[in-house]
Order: sequence, then structure tokens, then C-alpha cells
Amino acid sequence: EARALERRFVTARPLFREATVVHAVSGVDLAVEEGETFAIVGESGCGKSTLARVLTRLIPASGGSVRYAGRDLGGLKPAQIRALRREVQFIFQDPFSSLNPRMTVGALIEEPLRIHRIGTGPERRARVAQLLERVGLPAQAAGRYPHEFSGGQRQRIGIARALASGPKVVVGDEPVSALDVSIQAQVVNLLADLKREFGLTLVIIAHDLAVIRHMADRVAVMYLGQIVELAPAADLFEVPRHPYTEALVSAIPLPDPGARRARARVAGELPDPTAPPAGCRFHPRCPYAIGRCRTDAPQLSPRDAGGRQVACHRAEELALAGLGSVAAAR
Ligand code: SF4
Ligand code: MG
Repeated sequence: EARALERRFVTARPLFREATVVHAVSGVDLAVEEGETFAIVGESGCGKSTLARVLTRLIPASGGSVRYAGRDLGGLKPAQIRALRREVQFIFQDPFSSLNPRMTVGALIEEPLRIHRIGTGPERRARVAQLLERVGLPAQAAGRYPHEFSGGQRQRIGIARALASGPKVVVGDEPVSALDVSIQAQVVNLLADLKREFGLTLVIIAHDLAVIRHMADRVAVMYLGQIVELAPAADLFEVPRHPYTEALVSAIPLPDPGARRARARVAGELPDPTAPPAGCRFHPRCPYAIGRCRTDAPQLSPRDAGGRQVACHRAEELALAGLGSVAAAR
């Protein structure tokens, strides 16, 4: 659970002798429920990876709070952060750089068991063999090195390593975006199966809505460090309420290559995150922007009866008219 979460980075620009403060995450409130698959989506550079790292205490927050199982993670000492790692694990985006190339696959998967002093040597090796089999790799893989495997296989190794300590929560930062499209679905399905089997709570970060469409229970859409919409996945895909969500949803490729539909792509580039636009941060790219959007920042609404929240001045009006029909009327 995160309240008013902030994460700022200060980047020094020696040429200008000035420091720039980047608000990568700005005033984020969300609560992930036990046992759900919660997705955080948005374009690259919108603060999703930073949010995931702050939520799991890989990096500290600069403001606000993160609570896990009733405890505030802000005040944890290094030993307590290590203990937290046993329960909250991370799968990294890049399976090429996140695995130490000098360690065998067996040692990589065993490492969390050693760190948390789980089991005897033979027990740990049996567990490694079990995990390899569960993620679809042969037991002999344990004696080989990461570079001997393909991207998809390496991500399976990363998943086995994340599961080794028996975590309750697994956070995946774009776990399939570095993989070939043909391999992505296999790894997504594996994650969904493991989630059910181990009763995990899964937090998946993605820039591609198609990846999380069939696995997420709820989705938070981020734009420039803020949540602009949070909703049950089925409702969000069916009827997006925020204009940015609408653009993301309509950019999902259709399964049938012959099918046609109007595509509302997000026009323009993501603005410089060091100087987000005033008012609604999305206004320079929003087809529905009105005068007020340039000056007043919309707040994320309280949860409605359907569990939906949206940060848009025109959300009600646009929902009543239907986003598409308003666009057509313009
Ligand atoms: Fe668009 Fe205005 Fe809504 Fe922002 S507040 S998403 S600019 S209509
Ligand atoms: Mg990222």
C-alpha cells in the first residue's frame, strides 16, 4: 500500500552547474490486494520502473509511505530489508544483464536460499532442480552459465531465482519486453501458472497493454509519474475512462491482421519529465483538453462502486457521451 508516494532524482548537470530534480513518481496512492495480479502500465519514462523499485524498497522513497503487511518500509534497517527480500522478490526487465555471468545457473538460483539460510546443501540443490523443472528447463542447466541460454530461457532462470525463497509477492518490471514476441506469451503464461500454483501476489509493470490484458485483475495507468486511471482490468479494456487509457487501449494490435479499426494513437512525444506540463500533465497531447486542463491539475477520484478511479476533469461528461462519439463530434 502506497500513500502520497514521491520519488525524486537529482541529476547534476555539470555544464550548467545546476541540479535538476526529476519527480519520477509524484503523489501516488495505491493498495495492492493479497493474491491479485496488479498491473502498472504506461509509456517508457512515465515512472513505472521507479514506482516498482520504491514499492519493493529496492530504492527508498523521497516522500510519502509504503506499507507492507502493516509495516512501514521507510524505517527498515538493512537487516530488515534483507528479511523483506525473502517475501518480496523482483524479476528484472533485462535477463541479459540481471544474472551474474560468472555464476552457474544452479548457483544463481541457490543464492537466495543461502542468503536466507534456507535448507541444507543437498536440500537446496534438490530445490534448485525442482525449480528448474517447474520453469521448463532441464536439471542439467544447473551446471551451465547464463550466456549458454536464450533470452526466454534466461528469463525463466530469473523467475526460478525469484521464486526460490518462497516469496509472497513477486514484482516483474517488464519481464517480457526484452523477449521476442513469439516467446512473450509463453513466459506470461508461465508467470500466470506459477502465480496460481504458489498463491502469489503479482505486480506486473508493462508498457504494452496486450501483455497484461489476460492476466491482470486490476490495472493502474501511469502518465508522467502519476496514476491517471485505476480500474478492474476487464472494465478498463472495455470502457476506458481516461483519454490516455483510451489511446493505449486502441493502440493494442488486433489479433486478426485483416481486421481494421480506428486507432487513436497518442499524438506527440512524452514531455520532458524534469518539467511536466502545468494543469493536467496530459493536456498537450489530449484531444479533449479544455481551458481548465491547462491550469488545474485533476485529482484521482475516490473509488466508485465498480472500484474505478480516474483523474480527468471531463471524465463524467466523456463517459456519458462515450469517448469515441465526442471525438467524432469534434
Ligand atoms: Fe484531457 Fe483535460 Fe482530462 Fe487531462 S483533464 S485528460 S487534458 S480532458
Ligand atoms: Mg522501465
